[in-house]
Amino acid sequence: MLFDENRTEESEITSPKFSKERLTFFVEVILPVPVEGKFTYRVPMELNGMVREGARVVVNFGKRRVLTGVVARVHQEAPKTYSAKYILELLDEVPVVYQSQLVFWEWLAEYYMCTIGEVMNVALPSGLKLSSMSRVQLNPNFEHLQQQYGVLLTAKEQLLLDHLQGDSSLTFDQIGEILQVKNIYAIIKSLLFKEAILVFEEIKEKYKPKIVKKIRLSKQYLADREVLTDLLNALKSHKQQDVILKYLTEISIDAPENIHLQGLPKSVFTKGGISESSLQTLIKKNIFEEFEVIVSRFQEFENEELNTIKLSNYQQEKVNEIMQFFEADNALQKNTVLLHGITGSGKTEMYIEVVNKMLAQGKQVLFLLPEIALTTQIVSRLKKVFGIKLGVYHSKFSDNERVEVWKGVQDGRFPIVAGVRSSIFLPFNNLGLIIVDEEHDPSYKQYDPAPRYNARDVALVLAGIHKAKVLLGSATPSLESYYQAKQGKYGFVSANKRFGDAQLPEIQLVNMSIERKKKTVKYNFSSLMLASIDENLQKKEQTILFQNRRGFAPHLSCEECSWIPTCMNCAVSLTFHLYSNELRCHYCGYREAPPSACLSCGSTKIKTVGFGTEKIEDELKLIYPEAAIQRMDLDTTRSKYSYQTIIEDFTNRQIDILVGTQMVTKGLDFDFVSLVGVFDVDRLIHFPDFRSHERTFQLITQVSGRAGRKDKKGTVLIQTSKPQHPLLERIISHDYEGFYEDESIERQKHFYPPFSRIITITVKSDEQTLAIEAANELAQKLKVALGAGRVLGPEAAMIEKIRNQYLQNIMIKLERDKINLKAVKELIKEQMQGLTSNKKYKLLQIVPNVDPM
Ligand SMILES: [Zn+2]
Ligand SMILES: [Zn+2]
Repeated sequence: MLFDENRTEESEITSPKFSKERLTFFVEVILPVPVEGKFTYRVPMELNGMVREGARVVVNFGKRRVLTGVVARVHQEAPKTYSAKYILELLDEVPVVYQSQLVFWEWLAEYYMCTIGEVMNVALPSGLKLSSMSRVQLNPNFEHLQQQYGVLLTAKEQLLLDHLQGDSSLTFDQIGEILQVKNIYAIIKSLLFKEAILVFEEIKEKYKPKIVKKIRLSKQYLADREVLTDLLNALKSHKQQDVILKYLTEISIDAPENIHLQGLPKSVFTKGGISESSLQTLIKKNIFEEFEVIVSRFQEFENEELNTIKLSNYQQEKVNEIMQFFEADNALQKNTVLLHGITGSGKTEMYIEVVNKMLAQGKQVLFLLPEIALTTQIVSRLKKVFGIKLGVYHSKFSDNERVEVWKGVQDGRFPIVAGVRSSIFLPFNNLGLIIVDEEHDPSYKQYDPAPRYNARDVALVLAGIHKAKVLLGSATPSLESYYQAKQGKYGFVSANKRFGDAQLPEIQLVNMSIERKKKTVKYNFSSLMLASIDENLQKKEQTILFQNRRGFAPHLSCEECSWIPTCMNCAVSLTFHLYSNELRCHYCGYREAPPSACLSCGSTKIKTVGFGTEKIEDELKLIYPEAAIQRMDLDTTRSKYSYQTIIEDFTNRQIDILVGTQMVTKGLDFDFVSLVGVFDVDRLIHFPDFRSHERTFQLITQVSGRAGRKDKKGTVLIQTSKPQHPLLERIISHDYEGFYEDESIERQKHFYPPFSRIITITVKSDEQTLAIEAANELAQKLKVALGAGRVLGPEAAMIEKIRNQYLQNIMIKLERDKINLKAVKELIKEQMQGLTSNKKYKLLQIVPNVDPM
């Protein structure tokens, strides 16, 4: 929507002489700050008629900050109580953010109880935000001055100059951080006086398109063949003739002009044995001309032949069922469909078929994937089908790459995007379908910073704005989605046959209590587990072992007095890592060397307690020194490609046994895995969270799905001390429906989602008593405002202290229906604001989390 076109035109027509003087425009600007609301600025006269909704502007915020914001609204109402500052600069004549995105941002801010600025901050790639602060650099002449006059510097001044060595420049904010002082102006002023530094203003776009220099024949030689022949004859140097001949073999001058305009990169010539100097001579003679083109960072797949997919009859049937829901023009029509497809049913192929149908209608498609699955097989499969039409949006990408996907969606180059949760913020304007693969995956939920959104849930809202469809898919749907399907709110399609009639694996429980009594457990392995691994190694088949805990041992403990080393910043024990020989905190990253003696009693008898992936790996290497063993967890996959490398090595059978955390459970298909082993399942089941059963069912089913493919039936062994647990019964019989029934009864009984909605409020303070006191006060107020039955707590968070912040949680449980959610959130916000307006709680952080996972 263009705000003022009509108005401007109209006024220009009616009073052309005065309109420009008379009209004063104001804009409501969204700024990336955690302050409620939008900010009013005045449009300078020369920009009248140019500022549009969705365009970026640069403005002053506070005393010395310069920020980029997005214009949400243009109007003529001057603020009544203050005079608005002018916009400093307009960055876009064509908006970079669509109206539909602004609507979406507003919705997110309201639903997830954060500011629209916080939404903007996450939504825009930082390449579209500006580096717009004043910067400080070293004065190149200063060294000379220093030698001549011996300028005296204070310690702080010297510290700052040290940081400015080399070519670096610093923003005022960075300087504040380095010097640890609030008012840096005195120091900067003094250094300017001493001519030690220079200050400059820099406002420039961070995004840099990838530019390639190319060469083409100058236009005058394209007229006809004779001109060219003359040219070749006129050239005396053979080398120069070769350049022209090479050019003509690569690019036909008979072809349409735009092909010629694409030119050739220099490397085509130099690789063909042509000397750089002949090329330069021809450029100097104006026979060739050099020019620059912006190229895609995603061109690698351009020339590959694209695959088409072939569906089985069964898969085709399922696709038809999905499309019937989407296309029905009666009451059966559903905007959202849940596809419950067991592992190995070929969900990806079905998705592709549905995507093809949407693309054929000229619609855009967003394909959401959980964080970790993205770098792997599924994306390369999609690339092979969709080629250059597919944009990929990933958190490990550089910012330039993200901006390029953003622009590619806007200019229509990427009608389909596969991406992680933040790709819901891309500038779609013709969205037809959102696929949410592995919809149950917790990585769709963002924890920090705000907005704490769940991309799966938000996909439905985004689709609503665009009148698009949503296809949720999973082998183990979330309780929430399955519930909605049962209620008839979503269409439901079940694909319970594996592709090519492969069989589901056989899942067996290994009773660790009995094995322990019989003393047949070696390290952490049951005799059955070892025998099966043995057999598998002999058959040259692969094994996956799953233990959802990284490191060597969850903690150390003194044998004499039971002392346990804990983190100095968090209320958790430190995890022992054998390879790096250190103790690490998995919450704040704190590290220290393992103690040689107990810090409490001085005893040197310190033992490890429990086991993580590192210990399993270590023990395996002792038992099978010949086998190729690899570990896959957060510690072994930190670099950009390490994850991919491990997957490739495993696919190529260079690894016999893969040990890992939940990373090994997701979205991977291997042909030669016939055994999956699961450790410590009891700890998963009894994890103190109402979703622990659901998580366990999902994780074990997903990892089990890795076993057995095609004609081979796989085996899954689960080590447990409580084999009679009803959840395990459901898991071994592949009984999702039964699991859902059991779990629904529990959730209903305790009024948990999907039967209720939850909002948690975390009160954070570096003082424990203050956190408790404030949380108590807030809980009391909320109980009055919302009814005591709806408010639980406060209680200390499961980990009471993280990074020196004490955490107190309040849980609010709300009915699903018959409640005005918007009004409730307003009430909660009021109480939160009321609390922080009290002076003593001023430094508290209060964090609401809507629909926590
Ligand atoms: Zn001790
Ligand atoms: Zn810590």
